[in-house]
Amino acid sequence: MKISEMKAGLYCTRCHDETIHRVVYVNNSIQSIKCEGCHRVTGMKINAKKELYEEIYNRIATKPSRVTQEYKQDLSRFVSGMPLRMISKPYRLIKYVNETRKVLKEFKHS
Ligand SMILES: [Zn+2]
Repeated sequence: MKISEMKAGLYCTRCHDETIHRVVYVNNSIQSIKCEGCHRVTGMKINAKKELYEEIYNRIATKPSRVTQEYKQDLSRFVSGMPLRMISKPYRLIKYVNETRKVLKEFKHS
């Protein structure tokens, strides 16, 4: 899950003019739009948990099914026969989950 920002010239209904707006994205959804002129924030009702669920689901769903089958058959043999580059994957996923937790915390504060 990642937050990104961009600036765009949009028409503000309070300024009655085209002003610079700060657009905040979470993954590919717009989370909020803020007018730099009057600081009016237009928030989008984004479901952070749903975004996260869909993202993780997509990651799991795109995994080769062969891996999942081997995993089910014999866990210990699968782990010992696993190439090194695959062992590093769970670590990367944990790191990813921690980063996502940080993003979710920011959500609570805003
Ligand atoms: Zn404005």
